[in-house]
Amino acid sequence: MIDVVLCLTQEHDLNLVALALVICLTGSLATVQLFSRVQASLGYRRFGWIILGAVGAGTMVWATHFVAMMAFRTTAPVILDPVLTLVSLLAVIGITVPGMALAAGGRRWSGAVGGGVIGLGIAVMHYVGMAAYRVDGIVTWKLPYVAGSILLSIGLSAIAFHVLNACDRWRTTSAVAWLSVAVVALHFTGMAAMKIAVLKLGHGLSGMTIVTLATTTTVATLIIVGCAAISALIDGHTQSETYRRLRHMALHDSLTDLPNRIAFIEELEARFAIRGGYQRMAVIMMDLSRFKVVNDTYGHQAGDQLLAALAARLSSILRPGECVARLGGDEFSAVVSYDDPAELLDFLDRLTTASEAPFLFDRFTASIGANIGVALAMRDGFDPDALLAKADLAMYRAKSAHSKAPCFYDAQMDDAVRERRELVADLRRALEAGAFELHYQVQASMPTGEICGYEALIRWNDPVRGMIPPARFIPLAEKSGDIVPLSNWILRRACGEAARWAEPYPVSVNLSPMHLSDRGLVETVRSVLEESGLPPERLMLELTESAIIHDKDFALQQLRALKAMGIAIALDDFGVGYSSLEVLRSFPFDRIKLDASFVSEIEHDAQAVSILRSVAALGVTLNMPVLAEGVEEPAQLAIVTREGCVAVQGYLTGRPSRTLADPDEVRRVAALRPQMVGVEAVA
Ligand code: C2E
Ligand code: CA
Ligand code: CA
Repeated sequence: MIDVVLCLTQEHDLNLVALALVICLTGSLATVQLFSRVQASLGYRRFGWIILGAVGAGTMVWATHFVAMMAFRTTAPVILDPVLTLVSLLAVIGITVPGMALAAGGRRWSGAVGGGVIGLGIAVMHYVGMAAYRVDGIVTWKLPYVAGSILLSIGLSAIAFHVLNACDRWRTTSAVAWLSVAVVALHFTGMAAMKIAVLKLGHGLSGMTIVTLATTTTVATLIIVGCAAISALIDGHTQSETYRRLRHMALHDSLTDLPNRIAFIEELEARFAIRGGYQRMAVIMMDLSRFKVVNDTYGHQAGDQLLAALAARLSSILRPGECVARLGGDEFSAVVSYDDPAELLDFLDRLTTASEAPFLFDRFTASIGANIGVALAMRDGFDPDALLAKADLAMYRAKSAHSKAPCFYDAQMDDAVRERRELVADLRRALEAGAFELHYQVQASMPTGEICGYEALIRWNDPVRGMIPPARFIPLAEKSGDIVPLSNWILRRACGEAARWAEPYPVSVNLSPMHLSDRGLVETVRSVLEESGLPPERLMLELTESAIIHDKDFALQQLRALKAMGIAIALDDFGVGYSSLEVLRSFPFDRIKLDASFVSEIEHDAQAVSILRSVAALGVTLNMPVLAEGVEEPAQLAIVTREGCVAVQGYLTGRPSRTLADPDEVRRVAALRPQMVGVEAVA
């Protein structure tokens, strides 16, 4: 050790030694940078970075050695063999290539093994370089020093690349330090191993030439190494930029730029992980109420425009602790962490206002609104999935209750879900067991009171639950996918029974929107008519506007095929929902059924009467007779008849029943009208 220190201090020009150190440190830093690129790339890119890294490291080692040799003071004449000097440079580069490849291998000891190979390369460089250094004198080598220098180089360089593979904050700094120490230790231990017995005095190179050579080498090396390091930096930056962009794309919804489901769940997990932060947290689910109408009426582009505008609005109302995400379709979600429940209510208020305020675009305007469900962390769930599921349930409750106010989750909702699930299972069993039956409600022409048909209405009398209203189980069957088999059964049964009636009355069968979009519908109807022997003219299918709006082109295609078979089509529940002229104009319906809600208002509401009058007039214009539904009172009958409805259906003329109505009785009831007094006053 003392020999090494003595050799360094007494036999070297310390200024040039300092220059060598600058090269060594800068070069080591560049080597570490380049190596990080090797680690971050694959395939031919990795190979390219290995070559560049080896050139950087090799040049650094070689130049350090070269400048340090310039710093070495000897009284003997010296010449440098140019070929061997070049070979020493190529040797270290050549050995560093496999060294770097090994070091980037990714296994636990890859760094140490590869680093060792690089250390060997450094040693080879040094001793080939020494062979190029021809001194006019007797050179003797102390072998233990030679061996020690080689081992030091291998060991220290192995440590340098081993620490680079660790996940330590200071790994770059310590790797630079270890690598520099490896190069320096090898060189000066190697120099201490060499003893020169001077035979004749003289000068190899003049002092001035040495300084010029050393400085030029340093500058050239720094340029080469610097360029390599800069390309590593640029590549690293570009890659992390690309990574950042990819990550943003993976975690954000492309249409609205809001966080997506994955990001939202990550956010929830992060919030659950915080301890001692906010005391409370709520997860909110939002489902837009009339979004589908906008999408169906104005097209998907309009729908997208609306979603983007809503997202911008929602983002603009956020305060610290609040986050909004789009989970897909028209489903938005939000999370808020708060200390005081008033903050939660305030956030819900802002969400409601933002979704309800109308949207004005060049091409259209829209008012949507949202159904909002809320679940509270720790009370309703202890992890993101549970909270999301509970908020979802609460949102469905808000939706089914048509509630504009946010709905908070409560445990009864789980019961409701279970009950619905059981009902669906029972419904399947009932269908197999043939537990359904059809009731028929009479429809009468006005003003004569002649029976003009019957509407088939399904009944489910469950032995345990009792009578279950269709308004309860039909929507369930639609959701569970059981509606098509159920609907087929209804068709078959209605046609079969009607074919056996004593009088050839038409029979009306309700068609669910989902059944209309079933590709097998037309074929089913055809085979049902054939089997039952019911003439197509006696069958009328009733459907609502929503059935047509859903997938208009296909719906109309189906309707035309049915009509071509001679089947009549009625538009049911007209006046509620869309009530669009567009639908009325798009298909020649055989009947418009005015929804019962109008008739129930008619006695007290002049506006209902004028709507009734307009619809009846529209029916005349479009050549579609209007039937008034839900007529319960003679007064209502009188008004609807006077205003132009050509048929009625309701409890007044007959309730739905297993048996058909008595024609005389229907005529008698229909004739009650003229006796009514005071009716005129309403209109
Ligand atoms: P809808 O097609 O509008 O059927 C008329 C509903 O009004 C029937 O209720 C009927 O009993 C009731 N109604 C008739 N006259 C009066 C009246 O004067 N006053 C009052 N308050 N109600 C009256 P129901 O049978 O409970 O059916 C309800 C809904 O369930 C139906 O409305 C229809 O949408 C659906 N539905 C019923 N049967 C079937 C079916 O076989 N297939 C399909 N897809 N849906 C059905
Ligand atoms: Ca109906
Ligand atoms: Ca109806």
